[in-house]
Order: sequence, then structure tokens, then C-alpha cells
Amino acid sequence: MIDRIEIFVTALSARVQRIFSSGSYDTGPAERVLGKPVLVKIYADGVVGCAQIRPISPGHFVADTTQSMVAAIKEVYGPALIGKSIFDIESANAMFDARLAGNPAARAVLDIALRDAMGKALGRPLYDLIGGCCQPRIPLEWSVSMADDVGTMVAESKRAVDEFGIRVLCLKMADRRGIRQDVLNFETVRRAVGDDVMIGVDPNTGWSMADALTAIRELKKMGLGYIEQPIARRDLKGLAEIRRAADGVPVMADEGLFTVQDAYALAEARAVDALCIKLYKIGGITPAKKIAAVAEAANIQLNCGGLAIQSQLEAAAGAHFYASTPASRMMGAAEFVFGLNTTAKDPLCPESDFVVRDGHVEVPRGPGLGVTIDEAALKKNTLLHENVS
Ligand SMILES: [Mg+2]
Repeated sequence: MIDRIEIFVTALSARVQRIFSSGSYDTGPAERVLGKPVLVKIYADGVVGCAQIRPISPGHFVADTTQSMVAAIKEVYGPALIGKSIFDIESANAMFDARLAGNPAARAVLDIALRDAMGKALGRPLYDLIGGCCQPRIPLEWSVSMADDVGTMVAESKRAVDEFGIRVLCLKMADRRGIRQDVLNFETVRRAVGDDVMIGVDPNTGWSMADALTAIRELKKMGLGYIEQPIARRDLKGLAEIRRAADGVPVMADEGLFTVQDAYALAEARAVDALCIKLYKIGGITPAKKIAAVAEAANIQLNCGGLAIQSQLEAAAGAHFYASTPASRMMGAAEFVFGLNTTAKDPLCPESDFVVRDGHVEVPRGPGLGVTIDEAALKKNTLLHENVS
């Protein structure tokens, strides 16, 4: 039985600021709570389930903030979990729906912490509870921030490829200067990294239909790996039209996919080739597996998104989901590279084996998520602490 839940908001080791067409990604000044990750510990029957998620608003299309996550867990979801079994994951998710709609990042951190607790209670890695280990070695992709100077995009791309062996890049697109600038940015990065690196594009809904059709024509000549959410999230017919025009270049939904119902609507409209699963966006592992089933039925592949900035726990959750899915059902590579101590270290796990090697990472093998945080570091980096009991 769950008898206590602790909530921590923790500091990051470095501020991260990135730009994309529809907003910005900013972890905020060091001492500010807004923009920082939320860690939960779920205590039940001698085990402690642990998970961490960084909510990405303000400035992003997923609405959760640090404070909204803490409030949802402290006031609503947390008290309703007290006295329940860590294994009753479906009823926990049904409770989330019934008690407080939305709030996917708050749900995700609880869903993943429950899964971590189950793994620890059984002495098994999380992937063993959700399908087993299909892919222990996970290919990684690197999401390249937009920049006014394409040289900045080239430098980030080169660093990913040369320093970390990354073979899949995702370029942020829909530059405010127009589609010609996007084509130029793509061309410049392509020339810098060579033809063997897959380059996909993500305009974050910032293209018009005309832009999207122009991009397909121009970028295909330079080797276009995939197109992520080119237009508005609800325009399924528009996406289907782009998919036909793309003629073999996969089209992926990101902003258009929050729920299993969204997955079904996208499948029914034959709108996309791939669905972007971000655990903080869809509410954790439980909904991810349901979306995966819809995708399988509709011959749609999955992509594992979410940057997991400076969080080994958040990256590990993505890794277990990825590892538990057969390779044939995944497209591209996993995006949680920033949780693998690449740009700045996780302040709670600065020393770790869960790191990038030749563009890949091995899924952790320990019980649950297989990531152990340093309790002294947690204490030192805690900006806010709450208890639910
Ligand atoms: Mg995206």
C-alpha cells in the first residue's frame, strides 16, 4: 500500500535555452522554481518508486508548469493514491482521468514512479514489466535548436555527430524569415555533416500548406529523413495531403498527439507514418503502450521524443519504453540525449554509466528504472519540497 509521496523541485546544473517556431524552451534562472523538474518518491511496502519529469511550459505547447504539476500531485492525484497498491496502474490512470483532466506531465511522473516501484518490488528492470527487452542498445537523435545564425545550427549539429556519434538530427524549422531560410539552413547543415546522417525537420506547426509542399520538393533533393508536425495539430486532412505529397518521406505527428483518442483519429485519417511519444505529453508509460497498440494496428511507427534535460531518471523512462518496443515499430531514434550527461550533467546523478557511446545508449539493467540518485545531491539541490500522506 502506498503510504507516502514526496515531491521535490530540483535545481539544474546549467540553464538551457532553445528556440523553435512556436515558442521557446527555457529552464529559467538557477534559483527560480518555474521551469525546473519535478521529482516524486512513492513509498509503499518497503520500496521507494522514483521518477522525474521537467514540465516544459511556459513557452511550449504542453501546458504543464512546475507549479501546476506540484499542485496536481499534492492536492488531487497524490491523496487519491494513498492506501492504493502500486500494481493497480490502470485504476490509478482511470483516477487521473476522473479527478483532474489534462495535466499529462503530473500523471507521467506518477505513472513512471509507480512503474519504478513495481520493478523494485519484483527485483526486475522496468522493461521486463512492459514487454521485455527487444532493443537493449538504443539509437539516439539530436534535436538542433533554431538560430538566427545558421553557423550556430551547424556547430550544434557537428558537435552531435563528431563528439557523440549521433546519426540522426532533427532540425527545428519554420524560421520567421520564411521557407527559403529553412531550405538554406537545411542545405548548410547537410553540407557540414555529409550525406550519411539522417536529417529530419520539425517546424512545430509553423508551416502553411504551401510551405510544407515547397519544403518537400526542395529538401527531398538533399535527403530528407522525416517531417514532424508541419502544420496545425488538428488539421488531419492537411497532414494526409502532405503525407501523399511527401511520397515516401515519413510524416510524424507531435503536437497532434496527446491521447490514445488522438492516435486513433490520426490513424483513421491516414494522416501520418509515425507518432511522437513523449512521456510528459501523453501521461507516462501506461498511455504510451496503448498508443503503441493503436499505431501497430494502423501500420504507424513510433518515435520516442522528449529531451530529458539533465535528468537520468527522465531519460531512463524513455529508454525502458524504447527497449520494450520491437525495432520494426520504431522510427528514427530516441531524443532523450540531453538526459545522458551530454551538455550538462544531471545534478542528482553526475557520475553514471547511462551515457552515450557511439550515438547509442544501453538501457539500464537494474530494478525499476535502474537509476539511483545521490540522496545528498538531492538534498543540496532541492528548491521546493512537499509531502503527501
Ligand atoms: Mg516536435
